[in-house]
Amino acid sequence: MRRCDLIVLGAGPAGAEAALAASGAGLDVVLVEEAAAAGGQVWRAPAAASPPGLDPFPAEAEARAGAALRARLAASPVESWFGARAWSVIRPAEGGFRLDAAGPEGPLACAAPRLVAATGAVERVIPFPGWTLPGVIGLAAATVLLKAQGVLPGQRVVVAGCGPLLAAVAAKILAAGGEVVAVVDRAAPAEWLAASRALASRPRLLARGLGWALRIAGRRVPVHFAHAVRAAEGDEALRRLRIAPLDASGGFAPGGAERVLEADALCIGDGLVPGAEIPRLLRARLRFDRALGGWVPELDAEGRTSLPGLFAVGDGAGLRGQAPAVHAGRIAGLAAAQEAGRLDAAAFAAATAPERAALAGLAPFAAAMAGLMALRPGAVRDIAPETVICRCEDVTRGMLDAAFDEGAREVNQVKHFTRCGMGPCQGRSCGDVAAEIIAARLGGAREAAGFWTGRPPLRPVPLADLLGEFDYADIPIPAPAPL
Ligand SMILES: Cc1cc2nc3c(=O)[nH]c(=O)nc-3n(C[C@H](O)[C@H](O)[C@H](O)COP(=O)(O)OP(=O)(O)OC[C@H]3O[C@@H](n4cnc5c(N)ncnc54)[C@H](O)[C@@H]3O)c2cc1C
Repeated sequence: MRRCDLIVLGAGPAGAEAALAASGAGLDVVLVEEAAAAGGQVWRAPAAASPPGLDPFPAEAEARAGAALRARLAASPVESWFGARAWSVIRPAEGGFRLDAAGPEGPLACAAPRLVAATGAVERVIPFPGWTLPGVIGLAAATVLLKAQGVLPGQRVVVAGCGPLLAAVAAKILAAGGEVVAVVDRAAPAEWLAASRALASRPRLLARGLGWALRIAGRRVPVHFAHAVRAAEGDEALRRLRIAPLDASGGFAPGGAERVLEADALCIGDGLVPGAEIPRLLRARLRFDRALGGWVPELDAEGRTSLPGLFAVGDGAGLRGQAPAVHAGRIAGLAAAQEAGRLDAAAFAAATAPERAALAGLAPFAAAMAGLMALRPGAVRDIAPETVICRCEDVTRGMLDAAFDEGAREVNQVKHFTRCGMGPCQGRSCGDVAAEIIAARLGGAREAAGFWTGRPPLRPVPLADLLGEFDYADIPIPAPAPL
């Protein structure tokens, strides 16, 4: 068991910066990350360097920022456990936190009085008939393919959903020589217009977004605003999509004309949901905040949750994006150092002042982005009864409605009735949509629908990692009961 001053779970922008700040202030830090390198979703490291001149996806600002972060971590005293999937975090009787992970060479465990949860966001997909066909992948998964593997998602790709990742993915596919058949955006032009003032508060990012839009327009890729995918069709793999216009609630407009798009790949993402699994697992207080993407931990200004010693930062604590994740991570890392007595009040105030100012300046942009990715109230209304919601356990919308009709009134009851969310992903893919369906049946009260109780394992894990090293001969066998 490795003992340290601070465990940081997640080496994206938030976690890596928290670890660096805490370590810079003198804490002994263990940083746990399931990927092979730091960077998280936005600064994901490529799987292998392409030979010079052969890189199909030339380095962008994000790739350079990721490389710089990895270099800073490598030069720091932070002990990074890469390739380590954390599957359990508990609060042992003696206090603090114990984290167990499945490492590349077997089980790993560490304990510390404080823990920063920086586990990022998960992607939401609003299910439709055919969404489980080969060829249909998450928009976020497409960014992984493009950034880490240097692979195009297909020959003829439709990019659909909502938020800034739409244009980013479409532009990246085009830049790599791929074909984008169409972009299908849930947002209406008026929603983009309404967000434009806040987006203009970060001119460089706005310019980058406009660059993507120009590339898409320059290649005459049709953009269908206020539309969504109604069905994906094909025999063994995706062949075509049917898309239809949306009404103001985000549901399909009654009588709206459908269009058919021929495609062999669909990259779809209907926004992100905060991955607040550690606060949920440890029973920290949560609150539902639609503007932040869903259930988020209650936090103070330094990222402290309601549990002493537990901090939460980055998208896992509420969707704000990469730049706020950096500053929130640094503040939490410094706060952990102050709690441990490594920084006095004056040094802490001086070190965190620029981070707090930067966070405040970034707030309007972050809110506008989260707003564009928010779940629209009508979005789940039109999901057909036979559509699979929980793909791990094959639970359909009709089964969720039947559970409600039989008396299930919140998501944990629905889980017991149907097994929805009980599969290997532990509800990370279906949880938000299932809760929204139940909330709609309750008259829209999302808080009343609740959230799934957090339980280990956080990730699928081999039994050998749970058991660790043991010998059958060492297992005590109780004496048989006398006859
Ligand atoms: C798949 C995906 C792709 C995205 N792509 C982009 C993009 O291209 N551009 C952009 O601007 N924004 C993108 N975003 C949004 C972006 O993730 C955030 O704004 C930003 O990266 C948030 O930083 P973070 O540190 O909070 O989380 P992340 O960057 O998500 O980092 C969280 C880290 O925690 C690790 N982790 C989580 N759980 C465990 C566990 N149990 N064990 C071990 N490690 C764990 C993850 O592997 C990850 O590296 C994407 C989001 C997602 C979900």
